Amino acid sequence: MGEDVKELARRYGYRPYMVGRYLEILGDLKEVEELLEAFEKALRPSIRCNKLKLADCRELIERLEKMGFLLERIGWCSEAYEVLREPEKPSLGSTHEHLIGLYYLYRGKASLIPPITLKPGERDEVLDMAAAPGGKTTHMAQIMRNKGLIVALEPDEGRLRVLRNNVERLGVKNTVLLRLDGREAGKVFRKTFTKALLDAPCTGEGIIMLDPSRKTKTSLEDLVKHHEIQKELLRSALDSLKGGGRILYTTCSIAPEENELVLNEVIKGRDDVRVLSLETPVKLSPPVTEYYGIRVDERIRYCGRTYPHVHGMEGFFICLMELK
Ligand code: SAM
Repeated sequence: MGEDVKELARRYGYRPYMVGRYLEILGDLKEVEELLEAFEKALRPSIRCNKLKLADCRELIERLEKMGFLLERIGWCSEAYEVLREPEKPSLGSTHEHLIGLYYLYRGKASLIPPITLKPGERDEVLDMAAAPGGKTTHMAQIMRNKGLIVALEPDEGRLRVLRNNVERLGVKNTVLLRLDGREAGKVFRKTFTKALLDAPCTGEGIIMLDPSRKTKTSLEDLVKHHEIQKELLRSALDSLKGGGRILYTTCSIAPEENELVLNEVIKGRDDVRVLSLETPVKLSPPVTEYYGIRVDERIRYCGRTYPHVHGMEGFFICLMELK
């Protein structure tokens, strides 16, 4: 590892192996510094107006602006607003409007992209494989106008409770919640769903601005553990799909080990999985196609990424696949 990488890691407080990987991903030390600099900047929270409870979002925005919030509509998601200014009190999570489910609060806006990209419809039966706290479950329910079916899984009891609260608070009626390990879903629901969302548990290497402890928390062994679970979850999700079904794989991590390399190993030798070109509401950066000498499967070139220094949001990976 070069001295310049070690110096950047020391200056920004990262484990050196992480910064070495960012150089491998981006290929340019100046851009790595831009990325690390972007991770130092706070993210603006966003809210999604809940159309399951409100016909007209202007009413909500007026109420919040009267309390001292300043909101700006997000151009690519008509029901979502970035929060430009907050009053000292109340906080966004403690307003009456939040408690009665008129909006969902996000720490960053990248979470809005996966449900919009998967496009679940009113006739779809959707598996949400790792669902708590429910930002994407409730967003999909909104896109589906509370029709069709969502089966939302979460193995952690405490997080399942939070998911249940959010689903009830937002008036979601098309969703069944199950305490189940997603790795079992392929067996329990073999060839059942028309769509699946796998927002995989990950190291969070794209949301370091929200949790700076992630600069040092993840060891290489942790990364390997996540990689293994992610592969099992993706295989299980594919098994749960009907022929022609679509799955969106996403993480809030920029680590290729949790993204391109997971896909690479899962789709290797499988010609029943097509990777679809993405129709995302924001233009994404290209995926990593070669990493420390590993050239990933050609199909992965259709996946995409967001970066904090490019998109002004969390680092996310997104890939849409179709089972033949
Ligand atoms: N989709 C959620 C949202 O939009 O609000 C965020 C999901 S979070 C990135 C990942 C979730 O996966 C966590 O709630 C975690 O408890 C859950 N999880 C961890 N291991 C799992 C497994 N084996 N099967 C299913 N979910 C799992």
